[in-house]
Amino acid sequence: MGVVLDIIFPRCCVGCKKTGSYICQKCIGQIKINQIQKNRLGVFKYDGIIRDVIKLIKFELVTDASQQLADLTVNTLKYEFPNLVKFWQTKKMTIVPIPLHWRRENWRGFNQSEILAKIIGKKLKLKVNCDLIIRTKRGKIQSLLSKKEKETNLKDAFKQVLKIPKNIIVFDDVLTTGKTIGEFIKVIPKGTNIFVLTIASAR
Ligand SMILES: [Zn+2]
Repeated sequence: MGVVLDIIFPRCCVGCKKTGSYICQKCIGQIKINQIQKNRLGVFKYDGIIRDVIKLIKFELVTDASQQLADLTVNTLKYEFPNLVKFWQTKKMTIVPIPLHWRRENWRGFNQSEILAKIIGKKLKLKVNCDLIIRTKRGKIQSLLSKKEKETNLKDAFKQVLKIPKNIIVFDDVLTTGKTIGEFIKVIPKGTNIFVLTIASAR
């Protein structure tokens, strides 16, 4: 299967177009890593090739780029933030990816945050649960809306349907304004220990 796909869509680096992978070794060296801010970490700075590879996954349905991005995230977490990873493991934290509305998921065929969360959870030996909180409204694609539309679009967008574990990692691919994650956290019961993890963060 991989071989066939390679012939039809040869993988090439989003940074320099070198064939073989979506992010080549040379370009990996140029990715900027963020610092932990309180209970939040966006592992990479949301610009350059990280932004390009996330957009590739989101809008061009290149799901096997997800694997490479997830691997890169896991390796960076292990080497740059070993204490944080150990803390998550000791606390047995559950990764909770932010859901897409089912119709959107259906149209695109997959939820990239869920796919990324599952790979990362498996590699870090953390549970992943995608069924705790659902999206209630069909949100329009946030990036295409004005500031005001974005706020209305997200209001009451999520609903808790199952019991939330005590220690969770709210996960999304990217944090830009933080509005989606903010709305998501609103439906989580008080007293829950929340860490917010995103692959990339604009701030
Ligand atoms: Zn490259």
